[in-house]
Amino acid sequence: MFSLNSNYLKLKAGYLFPEIARRVQEFITTNPSQADHLIRCGIGDVTEPLPLAVREAMHVAVDEMGSRSTFRGYGPEQGYDFLRRAIQQSEYAARGIPIAEDEIFISDGSKCDGGNILDILGAHPSVALMDPVYPVYVDTNVMAGHTGNAREDGSYEGIVYLECTPENHFIPSLPQRRVDLIYLCYPNNPTGAVASHQALRAWVQYAREHQALLLFDAAYEAYIQDKTLPHSIYEIPGARQCAIEFRSFSKKAGFTGVRCAFTIIPKELLALSATGEKKPLHALWHRRFTTKFNGVSYITQRGAAAIYTPEGAAQVQALLDHYIGNAAILREAVIAAGLTVYGGVHAPYLWVKSPQGETSWQTFDRFLHDYRIVITPGSGFGRAGEGYFRISAFNSRENILEVVKRLSSC
Ligand SMILES: *Cc1c(COP(=O)(O)O)cnc(C)c1O
Repeated sequence: MFSLNSNYLKLKAGYLFPEIARRVQEFITTNPSQADHLIRCGIGDVTEPLPLAVREAMHVAVDEMGSRSTFRGYGPEQGYDFLRRAIQQSEYAARGIPIAEDEIFISDGSKCDGGNILDILGAHPSVALMDPVYPVYVDTNVMAGHTGNAREDGSYEGIVYLECTPENHFIPSLPQRRVDLIYLCYPNNPTGAVASHQALRAWVQYAREHQALLLFDAAYEAYIQDKTLPHSIYEIPGARQCAIEFRSFSKKAGFTGVRCAFTIIPKELLALSATGEKKPLHALWHRRFTTKFNGVSYITQRGAAAIYTPEGAAQVQALLDHYIGNAAILREAVIAAGLTVYGGVHAPYLWVKSPQGETSWQTFDRFLHDYRIVITPGSGFGRAGEGYFRISAFNSRENILEVVKRLSSC
């Protein structure tokens, strides 16, 4: 009989969000009158409407589809020129970063790109991940057969876990042994930490010395408040030779449901072939894209491009200010409640220490029962997340102010 990809059988059942849903449901069943009072500060999804400029651009694009002379069929697989040019100019050239338009690949999400990128890399790379971690990096490597089996604590054999703690400001130390792939995410989900030029320089230097590849997830770069902090890994000299960058409109402009993102593969980025020659990854990703993908819809790309118009940019900034404002309000309330908080300044997430002696899940249960607030237990993001919880600032201002009231009243 034909066989299946047994690597999938190594995956631990999705535990975190189903378990949160189960506990919330149980609470509602026993406290039905409280169901409407629950505030969800758990899931990392945006809540506020799509900017007007984006919607207007999409309406126009829909109407273009309604006329034979402006109808669009298959578009360029790598993305329309108008969007790639806008990205090149606004995200890179404006910051003095040398990225060419044809190094930008428009896709339907960073989650997909982050998983798909393994298609063009060799078999059996050694992989280093931050702990706590965005689970997609782990699971896609399990699926690709880059790990051993899961251990009791949910970690996988063969993966190098890089601990992120308050002591290292959630920027891990360089790996003890050589690795091929290193996933970095700044500003970080879940810890809300941000990386300085100096911190990223150390990683670029490591990657170049050890011929490793950095997979840099900058999904939250738009939340950076301090103008001196790097938004892109390519602000670090030498990164073009060792890094791939993932960007997304999801958290920047409320696109989680619309779906649009982009990935940068510099042409200087080389990898070793089976015959020992160094070859550019750009050509492989281009080939993969044109073979397995037919591009993001014209309507969506028009919506994304509207972010780079003056009106669009102002509306996106208002959206970001809303979430960053929420995070600032939450930070004060959590500190006033006597808790130790990290993040929430350059990211929409606060990473909070559970009170002494409490596990992440114990804090989760207490917040659910005492405050009717749903948070995310840190242990769900990895072993180093135990004893922490994540509060998301993705919410209405009304809900955030209600959270503040509840935290101060108990
Ligand atoms: C939300 C998020 C993304 C964006 O994923 P999309 O597929 O573009 O919606 C990427 N990385 C991290 C860490 C995220 O939290």
